Amino acid sequence: MIQIDGLIGGGQILRTSLSLSALTGKPFKIINIRNKRPNPGLQNQHLTAVNACSKICNADVIGNTLNSSELEFIPSKVVSSDYRFDIGTAGSTTLVLQTLLPPLLFANNKSVLEIIGGTANPLAPPALDIKNVFLKVLEKLGIDIELEVVKEGFYPKGGGNIKIVINPIKKLKDFNFIAVYSMEVNLFAVSSHSLKDRDICKRLIKGFKANFPIDYRMKVHESYIPSLNPGCYIHANISNQVGMSVLGEKTMTSEDVGKDCALRLIKEISSGSTFDIYTADQMLIYLALSGSGSFKVSEVSEHINSNIEVIEKFLGVKFSVENNVISCRKK
Ligand code: ATP
Repeated sequence: MIQIDGLIGGGQILRTSLSLSALTGKPFKIINIRNKRPNPGLQNQHLTAVNACSKICNADVIGNTLNSSELEFIPSKVVSSDYRFDIGTAGSTTLVLQTLLPPLLFANNKSVLEIIGGTANPLAPPALDIKNVFLKVLEKLGIDIELEVVKEGFYPKGGGNIKIVINPIKKLKDFNFIAVYSMEVNLFAVSSHSLKDRDICKRLIKGFKANFPIDYRMKVHESYIPSLNPGCYIHANISNQVGMSVLGEKTMTSEDVGKDCALRLIKEISSGSTFDIYTADQMLIYLALSGSGSFKVSEVSEHINSNIEVIEKFLGVKFSVENNVISCRKK
C-alpha cells in the first residue's frame, strides 16, 4: 500500500492520491491530512471528494469522516456513469471535479457529473477559470470535456451547480506547450444581481484595465447572475492558457480587486511561464500521464512540490525542477 504523509501539503495531495489510486488501482494510506491547516483533517469539500471518488471506483474506505486525519483507500474498477455529488456547503465544486477527472477520463465510457456547492471560492479555481483555461489546455492534449456553470455559488451559502460531460480517452497527445504571445486578454467580470446597483462589473474591469499594459486588446464580458448570497469575481486569461481569477472581498474596493488581478496576471506573463501558477499544479498529473514534457512557471509553489512527490509515488515517472522549468520523464 502506498504511504502518503499529509504533512507535505494540504487538500491537494489527498485529491491527487485519490485520483491516481482510482486510476491505477493502487491502494494508499494517508496520515496527517491537512495537519498544518487551521482546520485540519477532512472538511466537507475533501470528504465529498473522498466519497465521490470511492463511489466511482467502488472503493473500500476507512477514515472517511469529517475532521478525520487518516484515510485508507482501496479502489476497485472505475465505472463510467451519470453521477451527482452535493458538497452540502460552499466547498469548492471544482476541487471535487479535479479529483474525479483522471479516473473517469480513462474509463470505458462517457460520464456526466453534476456537482453542487461553491463555484467561486477563495483559494480554489472558479468554475469559469476551469472552463476557460484548465479545460482548454487539456483540449490540446486531446481531452474532450464540456463544463457548464449552471449556477454560481458563493461563500457562505454555496448552492452553485456545475455540469460536466467527460468523454473518455485512451492516450493523451504529446505534451508540447509554448509560452503565450498573444496581445489579447479575455476578461470576465461576474457579479450577483443583488450587487448590480453598485455597478460592480464595470468597476472590476476599470481596475483591471487601469493597471494592465495599454497595448493589449481587451475582450470584455460582464455578467450579473442569480446566487443565494452576494459575490463577485474577475477572471482574465491570455490565449486560454495563462489565467488569473480574484474574488471580491468586503475589505477591498472592486477597483482594487480588478487591479490585483491585473498585477498578478502581469507577473505570470512577464516571467515567460507556460501556464499560470494555479493551472500549473493541476497540470502535473496530465504531464505525468502523457509520459514526458516540460513547462515553465513564474515560481515553484508548495502545491507544485508536494503534488510532484505524490505523483511520483503512483506513476512510473521522475520530475525535475530547474530554473522554474518543470520536466517529467518516464523512469
Ligand atoms: P487546504 O485547505 O488544505 O489548503 P484545499 O483542499 O482547500 O486545501 P489546496 O490543496 O490548497 O486546497 O488546493 C487548491 C487548488 O486550487 C490548487 O490546485 C490551486 O492551484 C488552486 N487555486 C488556488 N487559488 C486559485 C485561484 N485564485 N485561481 C485558480 N486556482 C486556484
